Amino acid sequence: MNIGFIGTGTMGRPMLANLVKKGFAVVAYDVVPDALAGAVAAGARAAASPAEVARQSELVVTMLPSSSHVEAVYLGPAGVKEGVAAGRLCIDMSTIDPSVSRRVAAALAQQRVRFVDAPVSGGVPRATDGTLAIMVGGDARDVEEARPVLAALGANIIHVGAVGSGEVAKLCNNLIAGVAAVAVSEAFRIAEGFGVDAKVLTDVISKSSGHTWVMEHMHPVPGLVARSASSQEYAPGFMTDLMAKDLGLAVNAARELRVPVVVSPAAQQVLRLASSHGLGRKDFTAVYTFLKPSDERSPV
Ligand code: NAD
Repeated sequence: MNIGFIGTGTMGRPMLANLVKKGFAVVAYDVVPDALAGAVAAGARAAASPAEVARQSELVVTMLPSSSHVEAVYLGPAGVKEGVAAGRLCIDMSTIDPSVSRRVAAALAQQRVRFVDAPVSGGVPRATDGTLAIMVGGDARDVEEARPVLAALGANIIHVGAVGSGEVAKLCNNLIAGVAAVAVSEAFRIAEGFGVDAKVLTDVISKSSGHTWVMEHMHPVPGLVARSASSQEYAPGFMTDLMAKDLGLAVNAARELRVPVVVSPAAQQVLRLASSHGLGRKDFTAVYTFLKPSDERSPV
């Protein structure tokens, strides 16, 4: 099967490499030449636009930063919609606003093209291992058709509901992970202040009620988890700006639904501040470096 892959960045590249390894022929496009060169190095053919990718493939996968990029790639000039044949299936694996997924799906449906949203969780290590968690929104038959492709990328593929529902599940997950990164960072800064060893504290918490995925796999303190971004000078990983975006999507959704949210907007603003202090393109766990104590000469 010929797969089109658009957006070959931090996550897209290892995902594309797994499709190649599993025997799919892949044609790729990325707006950044270095990212496209990375896709070619992983075994894909390069195309010149999303429309060309769509013309040359039987199924299109997209892995883009945010809602505006997804709308542009599908519906903009030289977009997927211009090149895709009726009856084809598109899978958007980016984390975006669920209402944008629904809008893109409706626009494609006008020319009988099918769309599922299938955002992922697990970060670069699990993208590389092909063991991502994938939450899928779409028509049950479309989800079944997408499943062999998704199985090359992930270990847990869960059909959540109609188009957009995968994104809803993803926003809920990242709300928790984003808040956890800030909470774990705050806790470890307090422990350090008291001279408690970070490794010992990690052992204690991993057997206690504060245990989180973020601490186990993405520990914000360097040197405790070998594959964590913090142990590679906070190279992403999952960028601070992307996590701030996801918390923003969750907060916006909550506002529309009149759900009170208190902790997630606070975490979102901490990440925004970290971004405005130069950490936007570092891994989101670099928020730990931002939450350092103030000067000890400070009066309180
Ligand atoms: P990234 O910025 O590294 O990669 C996105 C790629 O899309 C870039 O190479 C960029 O050049 C390309 N792109 C942007 N606009 C384009 C356009 N118009 N046409 C073609 N290519 C275009 O981001 P990433 O970390 O790979 O994340 C991608 C998505 O996956 C985001 O929505 C993110 O929230 C989500 N996600 C990321 C992680 C992670 O750990 N990095 C984990 C889960 C989900």
